[in-house]
Amino acid sequence: MHSIKNNGTGKTSIAVDMDGVLANVYARFLEMHKLDTGEIFSPDYLIGKPEAVAFPHILKHVNSAGFFRSADLIPGCREVMERLNEVYAVFIVSAAMEFPNSLKEKYDWLAEHFPFIHWSQIVLCGSKSLINTDIMIDDHFKNLDFFKGSKTLLFTQPHNAIADPGRHIRVHNWEEIARLLL
Ligand SMILES: [Mg+2]
Repeated sequence: MHSIKNNGTGKTSIAVDMDGVLANVYARFLEMHKLDTGEIFSPDYLIGKPEAVAFPHILKHVNSAGFFRSADLIPGCREVMERLNEVYAVFIVSAAMEFPNSLKEKYDWLAEHFPFIHWSQIVLCGSKSLINTDIMIDDHFKNLDFFKGSKTLLFTQPHNAIADPGRHIRVHNWEEIARLLL
């Protein structure tokens, strides 16, 4: 079904994004924005807006200590990731260099929530254009559109919710990912 690349395991490989796929960063954006301004956004307000438009102070917030470390899990991701990890060569891929202070926080967060993921499966990087897995799961078109593998899953988040997924397969939650891939 999928092309098998030489990842050393003989298994089909998957690159799984962190922010907006494993980590519920929108909940953190809302929380930090409320703390900063007292403003509470309705879910409708966020739909279709790029994150930096919806949250004008986003850079200050993502660069503040603890932003990534205290993010909640997106429901269902741990259980499905554990099952995917038995069948596929799973890699967690985050363009963490955008926020260099996040590197240790992201590593610690993964160690706490995904103890079954070995350090060699964690790719904290700059551009994702080098990623050469068979499948990519991400919430941003900028990563999916240039991906060279065979299957791309667009994870729904408010910023992409009303966009045409194009050649990508839209998934709304981890139950849908399990149905598609397991
Ligand atoms: Mg993301």
